[in-house]
Amino acid sequence: MLGAARAASTAALLRPQLLEMAKRAVATSLLRVPPPQELLRPLAVPDRLLLGPGPSNVPPRVLAAGGRQLLGHMHPEVLQVMDEIKAGIQYAFQTHNRLTLALSGTGHCAMEAALLNLLERGDSALVAVNGIWGQRAADIARRLGANVHELLKPPGEYFTLQDIQEGLARHKPSVLFITHGESSTGVLQPLDGLGQLCHRHGCLLLVDAVASLGGAPIFMDQQEIDVLYSGSQKVLNAPPGSAPISFSDRAREKMQKRKTQPLSFYLDMSWLANYWGCDAEPRRYHHTAPINSFFSLREGLAVLAERGLESSWERHGANCSQLCQGLRDLGLELFVKEEKARLPTITTVKVPEGYDWKEITAFLMDKHAIEIAGGLGPTAGKVLRIGLMGCNSTRRNVDRVLHALREALRSCRRSRL
Ligand code: PMP
Repeated sequence: MLGAARAASTAALLRPQLLEMAKRAVATSLLRVPPPQELLRPLAVPDRLLLGPGPSNVPPRVLAAGGRQLLGHMHPEVLQVMDEIKAGIQYAFQTHNRLTLALSGTGHCAMEAALLNLLERGDSALVAVNGIWGQRAADIARRLGANVHELLKPPGEYFTLQDIQEGLARHKPSVLFITHGESSTGVLQPLDGLGQLCHRHGCLLLVDAVASLGGAPIFMDQQEIDVLYSGSQKVLNAPPGSAPISFSDRAREKMQKRKTQPLSFYLDMSWLANYWGCDAEPRRYHHTAPINSFFSLREGLAVLAERGLESSWERHGANCSQLCQGLRDLGLELFVKEEKARLPTITTVKVPEGYDWKEITAFLMDKHAIEIAGGLGPTAGKVLRIGLMGCNSTRRNVDRVLHALREALRSCRRSRL
């Protein structure tokens, strides 16, 4: 601490000198764009409790892993870390799939990778839309030239097997996209029976679990999910930037039978499979892995493995129930009516009548350094979203956010509307 304080005061003393030097350097150099003054100031990162829909706080152990010195991305130690990540994802997804790895990108990267490796121009895709993630998947699939059919449900509701059965029978798609944890609405989609149903119709099942992995049960193999992906930034408590993904043998067969190459080289699963040691070939350079992100992801997965998936599911469920009860006690109304349809990681609550949601989120940020979020896509302006994910899913954080909300409701002026 003392060292940090001394460094900060030395930096403050040096700043005017640095600025002067920079000005002089520009006056005598060919550069017409001077060094930006803001970069000559120290990096500012305040302490905040991130209880929005993600990212969530990164615990010291995971942070420290990301701050380790670099190694070459093909060094055996890094390949070993990649193998450990693979095993961690297989555990988190409950799968034995060989084609399991982490993409160098965020959740959207995994979404694109899944769709662009499965779909070819003219293929028929059925997209279950009950929030923003279905809308985004439909957009991506259309860009790929697929013939996209949307199966619609109002935000706040999930799809029944009957809904899906009707969609499959009508549109005969080769791929069904569905979101397990719909973070824009706070809905948890039941997955049991979906894989079997899809396969009876000759269709592959693609599931987005960015917001639900580690917070609600998923059994990739038993539920016969063909492609499952997630992200690093939520329950895994690693910084955004790496995305677990896994493909079933059925999905691999479909990819092997493609007539055209996937539209992206970066996200081509045949290259990535080789880079991650998922095929029998020697590993070849594909891209330079974000090694430090992988160190963090490895530690995030290690924490999950040490504590156990089942206890993680239980903890998220219990804290979410406490939060829901507390919100009701404050007189607030939950957006998702049915208790079993509530996503244990992200809770949506209606913006109380007469309040401006932006004032509530700003109050929590300014007075308590707590982030919660407003709605997104179809829920924009209608809900507040509170995330309790990974190390942030604790009884203490439930109490902290409820306390802050109670104050916000008292203090935020009623809007003039
Ligand atoms: N799918 C879901 C369900 C999500 O919650 C998110 C992130 N909020 C994404 C996809 C996209 O992930 P990212 O923002 O990491 O690209």
